[in-house]
Amino acid sequence: MHKILISACLAGFNVRYDGAAKTLLHDTLAVWRTEGRLIICCPELAAGFSTPRPPAEISAGPSGGIHVQQGATVMESTGTDVTDLYILGAHLALRTAQLHHCRYALLADGSPSCGSETVYSGKFNGKTIAGSGVTAQLLREQGIRVFSHRQLDQLIASLRQDET
Ligand code: SF4
Repeated sequence: MHKILISACLAGFNVRYDGAAKTLLHDTLAVWRTEGRLIICCPELAAGFSTPRPPAEISAGPSGGIHVQQGATVMESTGTDVTDLYILGAHLALRTAQLHHCRYALLADGSPSCGSETVYSGKFNGKTIAGSGVTAQLLREQGIRVFSHRQLDQLIASLRQDET
């Protein structure tokens, strides 16, 4: 039985920067929860952030790359550089996934940690661009299949295929 790392905010916990959750309701998710498949994780809280906290966005590096490996930084709206804590959170999330043998992750899109299809532009102007958050990027590099909250149907199909 495959286990799935899931963003804590999608699982209903009020851990987002604004103190809210981003609860994802779906019959299959409810079944997975009762089966004990869901491994709930918030990389930012794991790294020591509290809720609420200032919003943060990934700011492109000198080469224009939007990954921290390419020199990008994670900046809070207050101007504080929190890159190191985001990297720490990513590694703690990876460790959690590995401990539980998760081959899949279902993450909240748009987040500078969990975003897997889009992230905010880095200019705090409300615009999103294609890209991945620090945690989603690291999980992918380590072979975990990452799905955004909009891709739940694809995750369900992949799991079914894997388990038949
Ligand atoms: S780091 Fe991930 S789990 Fe935590 S609040 Fe942000 S999107 Fe949700």
